[in-house]
Amino acid sequence: MKILKFGGSSVSTPSRIQSVAKILEPYVKSRAAVIFSAFGGITDSLIQISQLALAGDQSYTKGLAEVEKRHLDAVRALVGVQKQGSILAQVKFTINELEDVLHGVYLVKERTPRTLDYIMSFGERLSAYIITEALKDRGIDCEFLDAREVIRTDNLFGNAKVDFDITNRQIREYFDAHPALQIITGFIGTSETGETTTLGRSGSDYTAAIFAAALEATDLEIWTDVDGMMTADPRLVKKAFTVPSMSYEEAMELSHFGAKVIFPATMQPAMVNRIPIWIKNTFNPTFRGTVIHADSANGKLIKGISSMNGISLLNLQGSGLLGVVGASMRLFATLAREKVNVILISQASSEHSICFAVESSMAGVAKKAIEKEFQYELKNEEIDEVQVEGDLSIVAVVGDGMKHSPGTSGRMFSALGRNGVNVVAIAQGASERNISAVVRQVDVAKALNALHEAFFLSDRKVVNVFLVGTGLIGKVLLQMIREQFSKLASENLLEVNVVAVANSKRMLFREEGLDPEQAFDQLLQSETPMKMDAFCNLMTELNLPNSIFVDCTSSEDVTEFYERILSANISIVTPNKKANSGSLEKYRQLKQTAFKRGVKFLYETNVGAGLPVINTMNDLLLSGDKVMRIEAVLSGTLNFIFSSFSSDKAFSEVVKEAKAKGYTEPDPRDDLNGMDVARKILILSREAGWNLELDDIAVENLVPEDCRGDMSIDDFFERLQKHDGYFGKLLADATARKEKLRYMAVLDDGKVTIGLGTVGEQHPFYSLSGSDNIILLTTERYNERPMVIRGPGAGAHVTAAGVFADIIRIGHYSK
Ligand code: ADP
Ligand code: ASP
Ligand code: MG
Repeated sequence: MKILKFGGSSVSTPSRIQSVAKILEPYVKSRAAVIFSAFGGITDSLIQISQLALAGDQSYTKGLAEVEKRHLDAVRALVGVQKQGSILAQVKFTINELEDVLHGVYLVKERTPRTLDYIMSFGERLSAYIITEALKDRGIDCEFLDAREVIRTDNLFGNAKVDFDITNRQIREYFDAHPALQIITGFIGTSETGETTTLGRSGSDYTAAIFAAALEATDLEIWTDVDGMMTADPRLVKKAFTVPSMSYEEAMELSHFGAKVIFPATMQPAMVNRIPIWIKNTFNPTFRGTVIHADSANGKLIKGISSMNGISLLNLQGSGLLGVVGASMRLFATLAREKVNVILISQASSEHSICFAVESSMAGVAKKAIEKEFQYELKNEEIDEVQVEGDLSIVAVVGDGMKHSPGTSGRMFSALGRNGVNVVAIAQGASERNISAVVRQVDVAKALNALHEAFFLSDRKVVNVFLVGTGLIGKVLLQMIREQFSKLASENLLEVNVVAVANSKRMLFREEGLDPEQAFDQLLQSETPMKMDAFCNLMTELNLPNSIFVDCTSSEDVTEFYERILSANISIVTPNKKANSGSLEKYRQLKQTAFKRGVKFLYETNVGAGLPVINTMNDLLLSGDKVMRIEAVLSGTLNFIFSSFSSDKAFSEVVKEAKAKGYTEPDPRDDLNGMDVARKILILSREAGWNLELDDIAVENLVPEDCRGDMSIDDFFERLQKHDGYFGKLLADATARKEKLRYMAVLDDGKVTIGLGTVGEQHPFYSLSGSDNIILLTTERYNERPMVIRGPGAGAHVTAAGVFADIIRIGHYSK
């Protein structure tokens, strides 16, 4: 015998009911019984309609008319015309009964739990009846069974407890007498005194388990709208996947903490009778789904992650609790008396406070009850007023495998911490099957995703990129992300998801990710104006794990937002030098914030484009080395100019050529004035541990005095020509000494000088060509011969590659 149950989502429309009928066909020959929920959303509608009636709001009749229409439409869609008449009449008859009750509620303005249960029962009664008729119409030999005939409960309306002795006997007797396929209402039962009761919201699963146990079924199949019990709620965690098998205890724990896919009480009758429960997908019926049974082992530490919203935390504290035997007994006895369900408890071993979580709707009742119970202690100030914190959620990781295996909570809380999810309270049951954390409700999706990643995709990571700046570097970066995507995903198990792009005018956000190839074109169509403030808000509100803000602008204004971004636990990657070469205080503050928040602030491309300068220096320093001297050629532009400057070319001609090749800033004086080099060596000096400001640096400005100030580029070149002689002489003198001109930056003992100098044949700078950069690091370890880092130090490609490398570094770091 097999018991099947189809939930509201499987029977929400006539066409879905047709699919269910198809699934049922093969079961008809074998012995089976099928439980149905109300049509999707009907129970909620019934509650809402009764609420309107209770409030004396006449519009409840409109709601009722909609409910009626949905059921009549279903009959018309599912049953042949000849047979429709009597079935429609029966449905109308039942709806009239419902109408009478609602009218009563409307008149007397009273809706007891008993009445509400009666009202809710109509959902299941109508759906199972209509489906029975629909199946009969397809030639399936079956009968409608109103579960109230056989399920006996107490009279705890809304959450009735089953009397198994009577129920089991009644079910068996009924089935002995009725061999046809039974189509049964879920959710409802009858009390001793003959009143209709319900088994708790989502209780149809439980009904199915009750029948399965009574009939000693071989299997219990719960058919729903997802591919089984998944590692997390697929609506909140897109990467959730099916768990092929789990233990009853694991399923109970997961569902207790919010995995709605199965009702927690369902496990009990199945477990006692060792009946395997299958969770199957009505919309993907050939998929195997999940089996819940006695063994759990599959070598996995964790089986699933779930969450529960609408939680409040109450805290009882005070010296009066210290070492007093019985305080917690009084507390929980009081709560039990008031029917407050305690979801989680946490007490520090100091015994100074007890905190516990309840559904927010019960927080007020709980607070009042406790304050009454402890009124004397309160008066004597032995305990403080009960604190209540609302808008919270519980996230729980569940799995039999965490037992005796250290590190689970470490992994859990480091994932939460890294993503800036503040943990308000923690509880772990002694069963070691569940660790729960109370977090703010706004953080739930992020917490679930971060945990899911940490436990299930620990070898696979997603980083979420928010890119501002659509210049050449941004463009090449996106191209690289696109080209490398599949390789990174398959070989490095890293997915780079571009969530937002912006230029100075517009911005575009797409949580599920933009196609990097089309992102900039789509940005041009975006109607959202770019404001850094709004960009930051959106980025923070999305609250995605492993978020990285990538600043490919050279704007100082953007860097003003870095502090706020890092404080929101978002990492930053940038080639923009403005932040690190601004005030020393700002530089330090940003590093400190990143450190405190456990996020990264990476800017390898601030100096030498993609050359590994800053990371190398940091590695040296971290391993105990000390930088004593830095000598460097840090401007690709100036190096190009001086390495192509020869006796047969005038200096101004060379500068012009560099500009024509696109190697200079739009105004070449921005290169010649040495400020770019000054900012770079300032950053390197700070990284090396020197507390310098830009003003401390002596910079030789190569722009002659009369070429400075306001003038057109043409005027500038004209004036520069007059200085060709001066530069020509410098070159000739150097050549005579077999030396070359180089624009160099030197840090020595905390002092920085920048200027044009000459180097002889032996010097590593002598052979430097094109737009190369070179950095010589003399450290305590690299003392006799400095460490040399050399290579192309400018250009969109190498810079974008450096930015990309920093992004990947963060992806690996957060694994
Ligand atoms: P039914 O109407 O069939 O009873 P429910 O809506 O009660 O279906 O339960 C199915 C829903 O449970 C899924 O659509 C899914 O969004 C949600 N859910 C929550 N947690 C999980 C989980 N861990 N695995 C699968 N589904 C889950
Ligand atoms: N229809 C009931 C509810 O919505 C029972 C169920 O669907 O399991 O709670
Ligand atoms: Mg359900």
